[in-house]
Amino acid sequence: AGLLPFEHEPYFNYTDPQVAQAQRDAFLQVRRNYVGKTFPLFIGGQKVEASDTFDVLNPADTQEVLWRFPNASAEQRDQAIRSAKTAFEDWRFSDPMQRASLLKRAAQLLRERRMEFVAVMSLENGKNWAEADGEVAESVDHFEVFARETLKWAQGKPVYPMPDEHVTTMYEPLGVVACISPWNFPSAIPLGMALGAIAAGNTVIWKPAGDTPLSSWLMVELLLQAGLPAGVIQFLTGQDDILGDPLVDHPDIRMIAFTGSKEIGCRIYERAAKVHPGQKWLKRVIAEMGGKDPTVVCADTDLDVAARDIVASAFGYAGQKCSACSRVIAEDSVYDELLEKVVDLTRGLKVGLPEDNAPLGPVIHEDSAGRVMKYIEAGKNSARLMCGGERAEVPGKSGGYIQPTIFADVESTDPLFQEEIFGPVLSFSRARDWRHAIDLANDSEYGLTAAFYSRDPAKISEARRLMHFGNLYINRKCTGALSGTHAFGGYGMSGTNAKVGGPDYLFWFMQTKTTAQKY
Ligand code: GLU
Repeated sequence: AGLLPFEHEPYFNYTDPQVAQAQRDAFLQVRRNYVGKTFPLFIGGQKVEASDTFDVLNPADTQEVLWRFPNASAEQRDQAIRSAKTAFEDWRFSDPMQRASLLKRAAQLLRERRMEFVAVMSLENGKNWAEADGEVAESVDHFEVFARETLKWAQGKPVYPMPDEHVTTMYEPLGVVACISPWNFPSAIPLGMALGAIAAGNTVIWKPAGDTPLSSWLMVELLLQAGLPAGVIQFLTGQDDILGDPLVDHPDIRMIAFTGSKEIGCRIYERAAKVHPGQKWLKRVIAEMGGKDPTVVCADTDLDVAARDIVASAFGYAGQKCSACSRVIAEDSVYDELLEKVVDLTRGLKVGLPEDNAPLGPVIHEDSAGRVMKYIEAGKNSARLMCGGERAEVPGKSGGYIQPTIFADVESTDPLFQEEIFGPVLSFSRARDWRHAIDLANDSEYGLTAAFYSRDPAKISEARRLMHFGNLYINRKCTGALSGTHAFGGYGMSGTNAKVGGPDYLFWFMQTKTTAQKY
């Protein structure tokens, strides 16, 4: 049963006018049904309100308040942890087949509402239709993949036999898992972490990013509709002084699954190492923390294909992906030609409203835009500005709009080359030859994704051997990992390499029990 046929969820074809119209209708419906509403927390299967709320803004026009979410109190947080702890006593023994069919049901429910989820995400985090659709489709895949993984792991693993003992290796869940997630993939990333926990028999405290709570909330509601028992997931929104360190430090939390910045990831990793009074375990942490992802272009490749993929992976969702290409490293002999092609394509990218499906939308908020512009201003002194370099205007809207920006001749010591910018900024660096290009690609504390373009099998096999990245893509772009196929997670300071959507992901959410029986 674990090996039922599987297919990745196909994307919508928005070039079909009927499909595009249906998506526009979904935006209208979401605006009618959700804008102006206040949404509750979920604790112990109940919708719970709080006395205090915060506003969620539309990044494409920050004058617009979309909806409101509660600031959970410390008591609500502790109650949520108690609910998760209680629910664990049943859920840990739940039948894997029950878990799998529940996840399959959730996949089906999501398929029926994909356009609504696309519209919510686009309004909340500024993804255009295709980017949001890609993520919602990935979420469907997660449900399908984790349904199969839960069955797979329930079978245990074979051991080397002994004549007079019956020995088994089986996997058991850990306890209450805190999932702390970012705004750039507000459904697929937390869902991957939460489903990892749930499929393995753990219970969850889900703390979404404050910028994008509805994209996450809808997933929790969907899981409850699919029949997830009360208390298996709690959903808490609010402020860091209640839900940041205190959640990580809490002695009843068994594991923390985090995706976000390197700074916060390191903070969580360090804090989780401390054993608090009443705590009966060493906490486990998985963290995915970012990247500085290179595309290496060898002279023997098709430069048009490479240029197209570079532009898609650098400027898709305004570069706000851990997986985004932010460094191009090209062999000297094709460097200028490639640069020209990429700059030409980039100049054609229109900045506009995600809701209107513009190729390039805003960055998530004004603080982000300020940070990105600092890198751009500094880059004007340290490298050669090829295009962009300024804020962009969208008439009548206030948002973090930035022109897609390319710098050439970036030195490997430049912050443009070393630091994660998380915006529409791409650097080009010249390599003497393809071996030098690989060395430059590896010259980073990060090691999340990389792309390598060549037609030469010998170069490709060297790249496979030498490139220090958790996700290495040959002759394809470095974004768009698919659940179940491209296990996602990096090397080095990109995180713990837990590899969401991969064959070993569930192992991180479990402990191993050896049972040896004489008679
Ligand atoms: N999984 C996404 C991709 O492959 C990136 C996730 C992230 O940016 O954190 O593009």
